[in-house]
Amino acid sequence: MGLTPKYSGAMVLGVRDCMAQCAYCQTETQLHYGGTPICVKCSEEREVKRKPPLTQNEIRRVLVDGIVKATARVSAANEGFSATMSQFPSGLPHPDGVQRIKNASHELSAARKEMMRAHQRLNEFIDTGVVPDDLKQTG
Ligand SMILES: [Zn+2]
Repeated sequence: MGLTPKYSGAMVLGVRDCMAQCAYCQTETQLHYGGTPICVKCSEEREVKRKPPLTQNEIRRVLVDGIVKATARVSAANEGFSATMSQFPSGLPHPDGVQRIKNASHELSAARKEMMRAHQRLNEFIDTGVVPDDLKQTG
């Protein structure tokens, strides 16, 4: 049969022994990807799009980070709520003040919900090992 070698792994980043022009930006390059000349910059850009899935540690770190951020939001909302309330030390605030208290209260409960969700996400991941949908990387 023929002498043509069969490359099963044709879509592999390799180096040529002669310069070619990058198929994407026309820069001179020795790299090629699956037979298509590509420069380092373009290959890195493409590499970014094909990120490998996060490791267990990275997922845990993202989830813990979410808790830290959500907790900070609760603290800020708490302070905002206290500050708003302290503006009306006696009696009923006028309608504008009532609205501000409502807003501060709403932000506080939203922040608390988010913090609970962040804890839940981490617990679920630890218990089940199931990666939350928004942390799954596709493409
Ligand atoms: Zn290029």
